[in-house]
Parts: sequence; structure tokens; C-alpha cells
Amino acid sequence: MICYAIGDSLYLNVTNRCTNRCSFCIRATKHGIGDGMDLWLKQEPTAAEIIADLEKWNAGQYAEAVFCGYGEPFLRADVCMEVARYIKERWHLPVRVNTNGHGNRACGRDITPELVGLFDTVSISLNAKDRAQYEALCACDFGEAGFDEMLDFAKKCKQVGLSVVLSVVDVISPADIEACRQIAADMGVTFRVRHMQGNEPA
Ligand code: SF4
Repeated sequence: MICYAIGDSLYLNVTNRCTNRCSFCIRATKHGIGDGMDLWLKQEPTAAEIIADLEKWNAGQYAEAVFCGYGEPFLRADVCMEVARYIKERWHLPVRVNTNGHGNRACGRDITPELVGLFDTVSISLNAKDRAQYEALCACDFGEAGFDEMLDFAKKCKQVGLSVVLSVVDVISPADIEACRQIAADMGVTFRVRHMQGNEPA
């Protein structure tokens, strides 16, 4: 399933690949969310296929479009940007991406200036208060450097004027959540605690 609706948001599932293997990721235990939503892609859709699906869903009736999981959307950043441009030109919708913040590393370039005008909100999974906790929770392909990469991506997104949200899942302790809240406050961005049983996929 490429597009799926939750409430008044339309979600786009562009890849099942990820640079992390988070212990709380619902990909490890489920094929999807809700009834009949199979988010395992048989093959990754092209931009044209995603756009064709958006048209079937009449995307303009939704309040926002969200690039999300199952997987890390910015492993296909060029596809995401092409589709986001279409969404902006066709429906003028707010566009959000839920990302693990490894897009620059995956693309081998700083993509953040290219996101301006295409994405309104970049919601980045902070997940942990420090490198060691991040690696323990996320088992990142880049090791503890994945934490630094994610924070650098968040800073660069803020610098280019994007609305940045740093999020954690409530699988860490209240004290650790507060430490994460402080990281977001120091960066001057919004902080969000996601519930483990929330309705958004990873
Ligand atoms: S929770 Fe997100 S970042 Fe973590 S493994 Fe799942 S898709 Fe990747």
C-alpha cells in the first residue's frame, strides 16, 4: 500500500528500507497498521506511481500529506521531493516528513536547502538523550555516529527555515524524556513525545 489515510492526514509509504533497526519499530512485528493496511511494499514505487495513487485518493481533500514509514523516506529523497513538488503545485497542501534524520548521509549531500518550499515540517526521530542510548535503541547502520548525523540534520533543517520537530517514543524513562526535551529546547525546535501504541507507523 502506497497511500493510506489516518484521520485527515494522507500518508505516503515510499520505502521499507531503513538505516536503523529500532527496538520499538512496529515493522518488526506487524505488516501494517489498522485493518487491512499492508505497508510492506512488493517493490518501491516510482514517483509517477506514487502520484497516480495520490490522484486516486483525491489528495486535495486532506489537511496534510505525510511522508512516513514503513521505512525511512529520505533514503529516496529525490523521489520524495519530486512528489512533494507535485503535491504543492496540484493541491497546495502542507507537507510533512517523518524521518530518522539520516537523509544527508544517505544522499551524500546536504539536502536540506532542497527541502525548502516542498516540505513545511520535518519531524525527526531524536529517540535518545545521547549517542550510547541511541545506538542501544536504534542499532543504526552508522553506529553511534547516527545520533550525530540526526542532530546535524535537524540543525541544518532549522537553519534553512523549516519547521522542525524532534520526537521520542515513550519507551525511555521520564528522566531521559526530559533530557531529550532539553536538547530540543537548546536547539529552539518543537518537542513531541510519541506513544508506543500510537497510530502513526515508524
Ligand atoms: S522506527 Fe523508524 S527509524 Fe526506527 S527502524 Fe523503524 S522506520 Fe527505521
